Amino acid sequence: MGMFIGSRNISLDVKDKSSDINFVSHAHSDHTSGVSATKETLSSDVTSELVAVRKGIKIKSLRSIEGARLLNAGHVLGSKQLYGVSDGGYSFVYSGDYQLQESLVAERIEITNADVLIIDSTYPYKDLEFEDKNDVITAIQHYLDMKIMKGTILFGAYALGKAQELIKIANEAGYTPLVSRKICAVNEVYNIHGAGLKYISESEGAEFTSEPSDTFIGIVEMNRFAETNALLSKSGKKVFTAVATGFANMFHMNTDVQFGLSDHADFGQATEYIDQCSPKVIYTYGNRRNQKEFAEALSSEGYNAHPYYESDYSIATEANALAAGPNMNAHKR
Ligand SMILES: [Zn+2]
Repeated sequence: MGMFIGSRNISLDVKDKSSDINFVSHAHSDHTSGVSATKETLSSDVTSELVAVRKGIKIKSLRSIEGARLLNAGHVLGSKQLYGVSDGGYSFVYSGDYQLQESLVAERIEITNADVLIIDSTYPYKDLEFEDKNDVITAIQHYLDMKIMKGTILFGAYALGKAQELIKIANEAGYTPLVSRKICAVNEVYNIHGAGLKYISESEGAEFTSEPSDTFIGIVEMNRFAETNALLSKSGKKVFTAVATGFANMFHMNTDVQFGLSDHADFGQATEYIDQCSPKVIYTYGNRRNQKEFAEALSSEGYNAHPYYESDYSIATEANALAAGPNMNAHKR
């Protein structure tokens, strides 16, 4: 079930046969299951280009539709939120993945007021708090400076977003990393749009081999991490393994070091976002378990929040009722 603008049903980052238009917030695979070459799609140009590179699908791109506006989400390059005014006259925002901390390689988030907020629930946990991004960046750069003389540093990272952030962090410390082909394909789109990433592509003759001539910083996608580490380690030279992910704040990873570099919002950022948006009602979006957990956590803080799966037919009616009611902001009932 999507949202209606001008009698057109818009699916939100999911596959929905009944929708007229797909909205694709960004090109991460868990948001592009509904992408097809035939259905009209609302997304940023960058997202269209990344979908073409990553999935090989040229989407029928709609630059805009009447009654809708795309807002930066701050998550990865080209990531957008959907703002719309429904047929019922209420405004809504669907956040997609977002973060409030500024990334080195993504546009800063834009927050606007809306009656209904459909908010991502990737990290629904009340007690999870991400470190300040600048502190994480400094820690990574310090680690590179400390270890590069002693061995090769191999990062495992998501190919879209996190890898480019790591490249930029390395660049700013004076390093040019060697990166996998899959990451390079994404880098090219980033650089077309002015990211200015400096890197050596695996396909340009420099390979991840068992006989590296010198130490270097390598970045590969997660599913090549173990294999690449095994290959590099054959040389007998030291390899330091590292990951950079928000999940480093929750789990112990099987690497030499883990950095809590996230491109999502933690609970504190979520409530900051909600307070600025000031919706009358909040629907939590994502997998069922996270929807429920996040709605409960927000409710316990006094917000009028519900899992999106409970909203089937009630979004319009509830929002309109709330819009008509006296001073019933979702924020602090
Ligand atoms: Zn994402």
